[in-house]
Amino acid sequence: MLLEVRDLRVEFHTRDGVAKAVNGVNYSVEAGETLAVLGESGSGKSVTAQAVMGILDTPPGKITGGEILFQGKDLLRLGEEERRQIRGAGMAMIFQDALSSLNPVLSVGDQLGEMFVVHQGMRRKAARARAVELMEWVGIPGARERVGQYPHQFSGGMRQRIMIAMALALEPALIIADEPTTALDVTVQAQVMDLLAKLQSELAMGLVLITHDLGVVADVADKIAVMYAGRIVETAPVHDVYKAPAHPYTKGLLASIPRLDHKGRELYAIKGLPPNLTSIPSGCAFHPRCPLARDRCRAETPPLYEVSHERGSACHFWQEALRG
Ligand code: ADP
Ligand code: MG
Repeated sequence: MLLEVRDLRVEFHTRDGVAKAVNGVNYSVEAGETLAVLGESGSGKSVTAQAVMGILDTPPGKITGGEILFQGKDLLRLGEEERRQIRGAGMAMIFQDALSSLNPVLSVGDQLGEMFVVHQGMRRKAARARAVELMEWVGIPGARERVGQYPHQFSGGMRQRIMIAMALALEPALIIADEPTTALDVTVQAQVMDLLAKLQSELAMGLVLITHDLGVVADVADKIAVMYAGRIVETAPVHDVYKAPAHPYTKGLLASIPRLDHKGRELYAIKGLPPNLTSIPSGCAFHPRCPLARDRCRAETPPLYEVSHERGSACHFWQEALRG
């Protein structure tokens, strides 16, 4: 297994109390596989990813439990130097906003080239040539002419391509893409997502794709993990989920995406709001919003029940959810 997150726990100590952002997350990704991580804003998707990348802000964040196995090594037990090396060549992250991730005062060519200079001891001139190749690889027209330009001189979509090129430059085994297309126009979103999926399969990388866009997921993911209040509430191969979700929350998420074949129908929205993480509801955290909730749900936290070989649902009444 390329990446295996086991029972990960992360807290934030804030003025309002301890926010339990990640409460025992388990997920795994193999080489060449895409895991989509879904869930409303604030469900712990990014914090989990930051813990995996080793870029969590500590403090205020604190990892209070669990393991993060990358190529068999527990990252939480490695020293800072080893982690830095893995961050360079083993795994890389793509963020939503390229403008704040790229250096505004360095040309794109210098930033791309720097990767090869630092990690591979390449000479400047050769690194520059590699930068042009990379820009061509990610579909930037006129790469040779534009290699000396600065990030702000590129459109949002082109900048996102440059960030993808940066992340993939050293051909890492794992990519974590945190809402990589959210800030882009809809048409550009699809192009950037297609590019990412294409390069991922070219390089047989593992991909953790964080998104709240279920529309994207069906096309590119192999399996999904749905997060709610810092836990995985459903995990399954992607096609199973679309056919029949086994958790009422997943069902709500699915019902709230616009579908071409359902034009004109009113969109469903899950009632209520995600919980305050300093005081997560008892039992199943979703119970205040759940149409299936009953006494047991308020009292007893559901484990991840095995729905089938590759599927799990953290709902006491998953059979009922599955039946529809
Ligand atoms: P998302 O699923 O939208 O990516 P995050 O993982 O970013 O959610 O955040 C989950 C929760 O963790 C937030 O709702 C917040 O309570 C807490 N959190 C995240 N980052 C911080 C921070 N820097 N300081 C305090 N709390 C934080
Ligand atoms: Mg996030």
